[in-house]
Amino acid sequence: MVFYLLSFTAELENLTNLQPRDGCDDPNYVYGFKLKCENCGEVTQKETYVTLSETVSIPNSKGTANLVQKCKLCGRDGTIQMVPKYGEPLTLDASQKEALAKLMVFECRGFEPIDFIFGDGWVAESTSGTKFDVDLSGGEFAEYDEQGECPVGISNLQAKFKVAKKQERYGRTTYV
Ligand SMILES: [Zn+2]
Repeated sequence: MVFYLLSFTAELENLTNLQPRDGCDDPNYVYGFKLKCENCGEVTQKETYVTLSETVSIPNSKGTANLVQKCKLCGRDGTIQMVPKYGEPLTLDASQKEALAKLMVFECRGFEPIDFIFGDGWVAESTSGTKFDVDLSGGEFAEYDEQGECPVGISNLQAKFKVAKKQERYGRTTYV
């Protein structure tokens, strides 16, 4: 079992707090990515999609996971369980520092998640306070903020999965 932390950043123009529509733990936000088999190295051809609100039972076990899948090449089973509560919105300040914002933790058995896909279902707010629904599936976003009388935009999206360690410190759990 390995924890993977998904982080992201983007260039924000007059926008801040970019995050899934109902926050980083939005139960219906769809996370899309590819899977690499830890056993044989095969990468799935098709993207896999998981959401917090959808779980399936793990065969021969009492547990559940957000995804149970078999590697097409070697037949090994793998599971992915999402671990909420560790995400944070991408602020304008973080964006300007090119810092990554944590989005979601995935507890993985048998598979490594790779190649995160930005989809629809995001929100951001302009520096004048206007909320925008944001679809990132085209790789960028551009609008005009009537209230702030300025263009707003998102470009240069980047996302990264990295192996994370679970740490308990002062009674709080973090993934770094
Ligand atoms: Zn395999």
